[in-house]
Amino acid sequence: SSKIDILSVPIANISLAETKDFVFRCIAEGRAASIATANAEMVMRAQKDRELAQALQEADLVIPDGAGVLWAAEQKGQKFKERVTGCDVAELLLKEAAARQTPVYLFGAAAGVADEAAANVEARYGKLNLAGTHSGFFSAAEEKDIIDEIRSHGTRILLVALGVPKQEKWIRDHLYDLGPCVCMGVGGTFDVLAG
Ligand code: UDP
Repeated sequence: SSKIDILSVPIANISLAETKDFVFRCIAEGRAASIATANAEMVMRAQKDRELAQALQEADLVIPDGAGVLWAAEQKGQKFKERVTGCDVAELLLKEAAARQTPVYLFGAAAGVADEAAANVEARYGKLNLAGTHSGFFSAAEEKDIIDEIRSHGTRILLVALGVPKQEKWIRDHLYDLGPCVCMGVGGTFDVLAG
């Protein structure tokens, strides 16, 4: 798909449905991939944080999550086809994962929140094939066990809710240790899904 650069952050001009198709195509092909969600705050942060800028450059897909990003494109005479929020993508992926029984892992947020989010998703969309959950507050030793669990449980979709820019850097550092898994940074989405 085509991209629109906003202050050097390459953002895909992609719809919600196309984002879902991208994810399940990667899974069908057994390919690891990373997805980030760009809003104005993140783009501004990437101007000063080189590691974040690099993580966004290297991401397989950066989606236009924030209204500010669509506005910035219009100022340059370019137009995104639609706003695609991380929350909407996460919910659609979980719905589709429930239907297809794709193994999903929810990583991040305070203790218990990911489990509550999963329970609410299951109440709406039916049983998930849950590879696991873990809170986003962990030691270095636990981190190794989390990575082992994500891989050994056959995770194909990993939602990472560690906040910006921690989640983008974490995904960049670990994408190839996780098995053939599509990883997406989802910020406060688990808190929203947990209600
Ligand atoms: N979080 C976490 N580990 C951390 C820092 C944050 O799991 O070390 C979680 C936090 O509990 C929250 C999410 O990351 O669920 C960040 O949400 P917020 O809306 O602040 O993130 P943003 O949208 O700014 O990325």
